[in-house]
Amino acid sequence: MKNEDKLYRIDRALEAMSGVESDCTLCPRRCRVDRRKEATGVCQTGVQARVSHALLHFGEEPVLSGHADLSRSDQASGRPSRGSGTIFLSGCNLKCLFCQNYQLSWLNEGSPASDPGLAGMMLDLQEQGALNINLVSPTHAVLPILRALRIAYARGLSIPLVYNSNGYDSPAVIGRLDGIIDIYLPDIKYRSPDISKKYSGAADYFENAGPAVREMSLQQPVLELDGEGAARKGLIIRHLVIPGCVEDSLSVLRWIKTNLSPFIGLSLMSQYHPCYKAPGEIRRPLTEDEYRKVTGLALELGFENLFIQPEPFLPGDHLVPDFAKKEPFPWK
Ligand code: SF4
Repeated sequence: MKNEDKLYRIDRALEAMSGVESDCTLCPRRCRVDRRKEATGVCQTGVQARVSHALLHFGEEPVLSGHADLSRSDQASGRPSRGSGTIFLSGCNLKCLFCQNYQLSWLNEGSPASDPGLAGMMLDLQEQGALNINLVSPTHAVLPILRALRIAYARGLSIPLVYNSNGYDSPAVIGRLDGIIDIYLPDIKYRSPDISKKYSGAADYFENAGPAVREMSLQQPVLELDGEGAARKGLIIRHLVIPGCVEDSLSVLRWIKTNLSPFIGLSLMSQYHPCYKAPGEIRRPLTEDEYRKVTGLALELGFENLFIQPEPFLPGDHLVPDFAKKEPFPWK
């Protein structure tokens, strides 16, 4: 889609959501706080976005971060064009007890970013050769993101835009993003209201995530790759398998298979690590057996584009980011 079309759609989306910050209902929490005056909603965010890091990320799914072949062709051309241009937004509207990004989601570490500042980060990442702009935890910052995109598209942003959310999105807000987002990358974390209440304080998680992700699937039903294997558009759902919650994971997979386009991507993550406030029963790693049960059903159901991590990570094997560092990830 051409930049003029995107700019038109951004203007319509901003128009439709104007005023929502004064009585915030942007996400299913519906805090109804006036974000122009205070940052007291669950996301702890006012009208400006806050950003922790903007960097080239090499640890996302290969279709987002790049892969060996892409790397070789880039080296041949001399362009450092691997990596997902990732912008880590501070604050979170969900706040899972076990969050490995708790420094951002719970502790809200980061700095305010003006709209032109955020646009500049996007353009700078494109300049560095990023394959895409990957907005992590965009849900509560969707308005400053749209305002920044107006600036960035007018100044030549042209790489795909990735909406990388926890899935706890308002289906109506996702509807407003039609034609703006190229790649949706939401989690579906839980189906059970009891589990989502226990670990994320949101009994209505799936009640909202289900319709929101279905809307994403209607907008972007096919995961499309370019000639070098990088995602150009589509939907990739992430599901992190949580220890002791295998039945819920299986239920998530069955729902996806029955309700969404067969041409989406599904990424099953084994990298669970008990962080921050993870309670006793999940203060342990995932077992191989638990992960295999989930991947086994995914293979049986025949998902077209399936991303599987090799094995559950072992204790001590973990690559939990440290956002207090300039380079939060150990790989480059
Ligand atoms: S975006 Fe933030 S303030 Fe608004 S409803 Fe969601 S959590 Fe509450």
